[in-house]
Amino acid sequence: MHFGTDTRADRLRAEARDFVAGHLTPAVKARVAESGNYHDDEFHQAMAERGWVGAHWAREEGGQAWPRALSDVVYEELAAAGAPVEGLAITQIIGEAIRRVGTPEQRAAFLRPICRGEIVLALGYSEPGAGSDLASVRTRAVRDGDQWVVNGQKIFTTMGSAADYVFLLARTDPDAPKHAGLTLFLVPTDSPGFSASPIFTLSGQRTNVTYYSDLRIDDSARLGDEGQGWEIVNVALAFERGGEFAAQLRRLVTAGVQWARDAGRSDDPSVLARLGRAATSSEVARLLGAYASWSRQSVEAGAVEGTIAKVYGTEALQRASGSLLDAAGVDGLANPDSTRESAAAALQHLYRESQIATIYGGTSEVLKTVIAQQRLGLPRPPRTSSR
Ligand SMILES: Cc1cc2nc3c(=O)[nH]c(=O)nc-3n(C[C@H](O)[C@H](O)[C@H](O)COP(=O)(O)OP(=O)(O)OC[C@H]3O[C@@H](n4cnc5c(N)ncnc54)[C@H](O)[C@@H]3O)c2cc1C
Repeated sequence: MHFGTDTRADRLRAEARDFVAGHLTPAVKARVAESGNYHDDEFHQAMAERGWVGAHWAREEGGQAWPRALSDVVYEELAAAGAPVEGLAITQIIGEAIRRVGTPEQRAAFLRPICRGEIVLALGYSEPGAGSDLASVRTRAVRDGDQWVVNGQKIFTTMGSAADYVFLLARTDPDAPKHAGLTLFLVPTDSPGFSASPIFTLSGQRTNVTYYSDLRIDDSARLGDEGQGWEIVNVALAFERGGEFAAQLRRLVTAGVQWARDAGRSDDPSVLARLGRAATSSEVARLLGAYASWSRQSVEAGAVEGTIAKVYGTEALQRASGSLLDAAGVDGLANPDSTRESAAAALQHLYRESQIATIYGGTSEVLKTVIAQQRLGLPRPPRTSSR
């Protein structure tokens, strides 16, 4: 593994910073604050025009055949600047599954349009009774000739109101063992019978309850074989958990330094110690993320290394943002404003975001058990899910 930087990566970092300066306009920030979706169609389209969506995919898939590390560099710069990249991240996760298990027709229908910024996707796994214990999903898809009829309800479908398709995990065989009776579908969100209603989180981010009511889809919307859903979800999860939180930590450190200067506290030993710890965590998270990304040459190895990076990055973000918000005292009560951000408001916002980061993509409690089993080879405890 190569730890240094190279000129291509340095050039891309500079290019991404210029891009942010030109495209992350007050209008984009205001739209994101208004919708609660950490995605903006215009900003996403501009990223796609640069070739930054699916950049590490093969040229015949519409990508740039970049090494994954270069894609990570761009993502890190954009996320560290607070750019709306949730649609990019989620779409690429699902794209990885389509690349691996899609039919040639599905790969043609999705991958190039994704890279052109024309298709954005959402993850539809969780249900009110199936989060950590994901294999308990009850949303039903019943075959009817060449079609499937879907009925059920999902919760926390982030981007569900803005995406073109939901990557839907549904139960197709209620009589099979619970992990074996699941199948995945790419459900168009303009299908009759689909609806989304918002849930706003502590940070103001929108996620959704999504409903499927006698929704009909063709069998060509099925991704993988019937009953292969659990296996495919595990491929996608290997790409979901990783080092993205290093960028949030970097953002936190930048905001913390700015706040310390603005508040005249940059020589306060307690503030310096907190910032030093946050900077150290940011660097550790970045390296764990880079290792996870490199490990994804093998999906299994990438899954466990990504899980380690996710647990570390989210917990470090929670600790560091809590510590800096505590130091900021009343400054941290600043009301975040979409167009006139103060550094103290950014600290508060990152603190609020960090509280939910240890839940989505698998909770810290569950993921630590996964690490103990998969990295340390310990046995599965009774009644623990593998999510
Ligand atoms: C902001 C946000 C965005 C999300 N986005 C998406 C999305 O886009 N798509 C999607 O499908 N899902 C999404 N999720 C859902 C997320 O993956 C689940 O919330 C998560 O997996 C936890 O499931 P749960 O909420 O049902 O909690 P539960 O599974 O009910 O867990 C409740 C508590 O019990 C603990 N617990 C449960 N089982 C165990 C165990 N075996 N060992 C130890 N502790 C355990 C958990 O750690 C947690 O503290 C999102 C969630 C949030 C909050």
